[in-house]
Amino acid sequence: MTRELTHFINGAHVKGTSGRFGDVFDPATGEVQARAPFASASEVAVAVAAAAKAFPEWSAQNPQKRARVMFNFKALVEREMDSLARMLSAEHGKTLPDARGDIQRGLEVIEFACGIPHLSKGEYTEGAGPGIDMYSMRQPLGVVAGITPFNFPAMIPMWMFGVAIACGNTFVCKPSEKDPSVPLRLAELMMEAGAPAGVLNVVIGDKEAVDAILHDPTIQAVSFVGSTAIAEYVYRTGTAAGKRVQAMGGAKNHAIIMPDADLDQVTDDLIGAGYGSAGERCMAIAVAVPVTDKIGDALVQRLKPRVEALKIGLPTDSEANYGPLVTREHRQKVISYIDMGVREGAELVVDGRAFKMQGYENGYFLGGSLFDHVKPEMQSYKDEIFGPVLQIARAKDFDAAVALPTNHIYGNGVAIYTRDGDAAREFASRVKVGMVGINVPIPVPLAYHTFGGWKRSAFGDVNQHGPEGVRFYTRIKTVTTRWPKGGVREGSSFVIPTMK
Ligand code: NAD
Repeated sequence: MTRELTHFINGAHVKGTSGRFGDVFDPATGEVQARAPFASASEVAVAVAAAAKAFPEWSAQNPQKRARVMFNFKALVEREMDSLARMLSAEHGKTLPDARGDIQRGLEVIEFACGIPHLSKGEYTEGAGPGIDMYSMRQPLGVVAGITPFNFPAMIPMWMFGVAIACGNTFVCKPSEKDPSVPLRLAELMMEAGAPAGVLNVVIGDKEAVDAILHDPTIQAVSFVGSTAIAEYVYRTGTAAGKRVQAMGGAKNHAIIMPDADLDQVTDDLIGAGYGSAGERCMAIAVAVPVTDKIGDALVQRLKPRVEALKIGLPTDSEANYGPLVTREHRQKVISYIDMGVREGAELVVDGRAFKMQGYENGYFLGGSLFDHVKPEMQSYKDEIFGPVLQIARAKDFDAAVALPTNHIYGNGVAIYTRDGDAAREFASRVKVGMVGINVPIPVPLAYHTFGGWKRSAFGDVNQHGPEGVRFYTRIKTVTTRWPKGGVREGSSFVIPTMK
């Protein structure tokens, strides 16, 4: 009998009632390991009502008390690190060390959120005018929602609910239906940490649940991470319904390799950042841009044997570089992009399509592929592949190299490898991409900075976590007070008050 997952609403596990389900697969075997209920609009409404009921008491808690819940939550997640990592890798397919990294990066946002008393402090001006003081305060929005992708089932929910809840909001999380078990467990742990019932709810679902969130008048803000088409839809629909929306989308991250770069270090970094987590990372390096053909030839010579030697294994195999892809459909999509690259005339230096994992022939494993001579007009260059495929697009000089990520429709992350400070500085300033690494392959900003891409990698103006996260999940209110000395009256004024 297949295990049936539940929603987590108002502090309790709740069976799905819509009659609609999705399968959660074991990506290593291709077998169904659980059934996930897909919430109907009315089930989402129950979760929203629970969050709305919890809001007055939770938002009235002093910020130190909310911070203490975050401290407790961090300790509980650390206590459960191993079991959470196993749960995560069993549904997603990433290796255990990578699953721990997924959880740890989320915990770093929780650590940041522990500073909420300081982060949410307002501003005060004494004596802004005669007897006039002015202050501004940040207030939570109310019920907010987060819709998350399959590829970071721990980190991305924590990016969102960590900051939102610490700010005093209550939360409805709609995780990816492909790997929802970790977000469900995190919600249980949040209660154990001291958050009252209804503060963090998890509803599993598909478009129907997302649409219910986007149209629910109680929900004040929606945070989304996923593919670009859905990000744009969520942004447009949510903002049209009067909500604050931040929606992060897809990516195509380039690494520029200048002629003075340390090619051995570059090779190590490209292998890790291109193929780690089977390339299913929004900050994966998808395109390497060697500057000059000489560097291109030297790079391909180094990369080819390393890609051929990649160790693809079970998520539990401690030697594996990466495990299976998330679903059969996703594996097929990646393969069809490799087919497309070949058709478009790129040179397939290493072909991972035929890889089979012995004893796990029905699993979603895929070998690493490497393309050379990829051109900007090819569709396989323009689109996000999101798999273990690295494309090399050679550039003749620095300007041609900067132009590639700058002109690409996506603008999430980018890296440059060089020993030349001038080139690095100019690159960081000129390139039209939101997150830049200088000799750093995956420049994911730490929790106290902020995460967000440019162009079609992000819709909305406010980034995830860091001070921008606090801004996203709070509303500013500015209060002007006047206490006239000795009750002196100034009479009516018909002109706008100014500071003379
Ligand atoms: P996805 O867009 O398929 O799903 C994301 C969320 O949207 C899920 O919760 C899903 O249930 C929901 N959804 C799917 N189809 C929908 C529809 N038609 N209407 C409404 N909601 C829908 O993305 P995914 O495959 O889970 O994740 C991979 C994508 O996420 C990649 O494109 C990757 O680049 C992107 N991503 C971006 C970032 C970032 O910060 N920019 C981070 C991680 C992942």
